[in-house]
Amino acid sequence: MRNDNNNQSDYGTRNNDNDFSHKPTRDKIDLPGTEPRVFKILLLGGTGTGKSTIINTMTNYFLDGTLDEPKIVIPSKYYKVTEKGIVEILQIFYMDNQAFCTNPEIWKDDESERHTVQFHWDKSIKTIGNLLKEITKLSATSTQAFENMRDFRNKIKSEIVKVTQDIANIQKVQDALDAAQKALQKTGDQKKSFANYTKTESIKLKKIVRVDYHSTVCTLHLTKDIVCHEGCGLSEVTVSGTDHFLSCYCMGSNQLCKECGCGPKSHFHDKVKLVEETKTMNKVLEDMKAQYDNANQQHQKYSSDANNYQSSLANLQAAANAKYEYIHKLCLDLSKICSRFNFVDELHANIESMRQDARTIQNINLRKNAEMEIQRLEKLANDLSLKRGRTFK
Ligand SMILES: [Zn+2]
Ligand SMILES: [Zn+2]
Ligand SMILES: [Zn+2]
Repeated sequence: MRNDNNNQSDYGTRNNDNDFSHKPTRDKIDLPGTEPRVFKILLLGGTGTGKSTIINTMTNYFLDGTLDEPKIVIPSKYYKVTEKGIVEILQIFYMDNQAFCTNPEIWKDDESERHTVQFHWDKSIKTIGNLLKEITKLSATSTQAFENMRDFRNKIKSEIVKVTQDIANIQKVQDALDAAQKALQKTGDQKKSFANYTKTESIKLKKIVRVDYHSTVCTLHLTKDIVCHEGCGLSEVTVSGTDHFLSCYCMGSNQLCKECGCGPKSHFHDKVKLVEETKTMNKVLEDMKAQYDNANQQHQKYSSDANNYQSSLANLQAAANAKYEYIHKLCLDLSKICSRFNFVDELHANIESMRQDARTIQNINLRKNAEMEIQRLEKLANDLSLKRGRTFK
């Protein structure tokens, strides 16, 4: 015992000048095996039913208040006469508030009065002990419902926020999709306009071929695909450098060849003729082709973009729809555990905010869809609130 030297208890120290004082008998709640816990207690009751009295008595219970030094955390009027009726109203618990609203001088030196007050005081303290025992048994279940309700309410609000974000994202993707589709159309048109980058050209090709008759040709000009007189009527000669060809049909009056412009000495006979071949060629217009390729590349990119946007749009819409359904389910579940939950008042601001957002949606289908979902949610909130048996405007 460390305090052997100290014979005076705290209580004695405080009250050693008062003959009537005695150590209060605290029925300390003894709950073996119970871990210390924190209890949040909501005290409900009309005026005069004893809320302050319970709190004041509890304060004295835990903080060792006495009749001579009552601890009053919620003050009443000091001079106010005790309303005796309170005890009868509080039928379950006995609680006396006389000690908190009467001048302690009244019982300080009056043994009979003090005896009465002391009796009620002890009884109130004992009641708090019993009350606390009951609370430790009951509170775990009684607050769970409130927690559940709050969880549901928070979930509903958070889902509404999420679905609002979904709608904003859907709008963004829809914008991107619209842009991609526009670009797709444009690059498609460009592709069409540059599609004829190949041009067909027909070229006449001259060619010397062997034949079985002789023609007059020129030494200087045969290689340039010129036959001066095909099928020459002169007798065939095997030499050149003579005037033999002066009489050839190809010679003009100036003694120069009409075909090649040379004199007779450069001409000779050979078994050849000139043929012309028409060749068709596909000519690629490189500049146009480059533009076509560019348009084609962009067209493919926009096409793939548009497909991606389309599918993510579908996913986002499905996710948003799932959230709408989840919100409905949460509302219905909440209405089951809390039949008096005021959905209209609670969700009014959220629904209004959703409606504001929906107005800014450019795409008509998206806007209609969002507005329809908002109406559904509003109707659900109305229906659930009407079940409560009250009317709303
Ligand atoms: Zn000739
Ligand atoms: Zn000639
Ligand atoms: Zn010639």
